[in-house]
This record gives sequence, C-alpha cells and structure tokens, in this order.
Amino acid sequence: MAEFIEHGQWIYEVEYRLAFGYIHPHGHPGTGFSFLCDEHGQIIEIGPYARYNLHLAISNFIDGKMTMGIETYEYRHRQPSVIRCECGATVELWDVDCNDCDQCGRMFNGSGQQVNGSWASMPEWYDQEAIDTERMESVMYGGTSW
Ligand SMILES: [Zn+2]
Repeated sequence: MAEFIEHGQWIYEVEYRLAFGYIHPHGHPGTGFSFLCDEHGQIIEIGPYARYNLHLAISNFIDGKMTMGIETYEYRHRQPSVIRCECGATVELWDVDCNDCDQCGRMFNGSGQQVNGSWASMPEWYDQEAIDTERMESVMYGGTSW
C-alpha cells in the first residue's frame, strides 16, 4: 500500500452576490445583474463595465424597476487523496479504478492499491504476449511450428 500524503476530502465554499432582477414590465423576469460581494453586500472586485452596470442597476432599483438582494451560493468540490508512489513521485487519486504515476507508470485504484507493475517491467510482458500470440496463430493457421 502506498503512503498517503493527503486524504481526500470535500471542500466547501460560499459565494455571495449582490443581485438585481428586473420587475415585469420593465424587463424580462429572471434577467438582471449580479456582482460578487461579501456576506454584507459589499462589492468585492469590480471592473469599469461592471461598475457601469452597477450604477444602472442601483438607479433601476431606486426607480422601482428592479429588486435587490444578496444571494448565497454554496459550492463543494472534491479534493483527491494524494499518495507517494514507490518511485518517489506523488499521484492524485481522482479515479476509482485507475490513476497512473506520470513518472513510472504504476497504476493505483482510488484506495491507493497498486494495480499493475511499472513501465520498466512491461516491455517483457508485451514481448512475451506477442510471442505467445504468434505461436498460437501459427498452430491455429498451420504455419511453421515452434
Ligand atoms: Zn511512480
């Protein structure tokens, strides 16, 4: 079993947006603007075009054409387990079945168990398989026998 450097976990993130939505008949329902902000509605970062849209949205809100509120979005994403391969490289275990080491080609399942040899051991394997296949074909199709 490979050495675990990090165990996989879920990462949770929260994002807030100051959202303005058009009130019918001033615009199509469901359309409007939203701006990245903190939990208090304070805009975090804004470029010149977004700043123009923010002024437009605020004036539309003041004129009663738009709603305004803070929307909360919660995200989660998976951070994979990371193991140390026998060759010394690190391997991220994204896949349940197969995660290969970029350095040596060993493959590991999602639990960090190695499921093959290294590249160094594979050419012999392939060659033996090719030889066996040739031998089998020569027997099956009446070629020269070995
Ligand atoms: Zn390796």
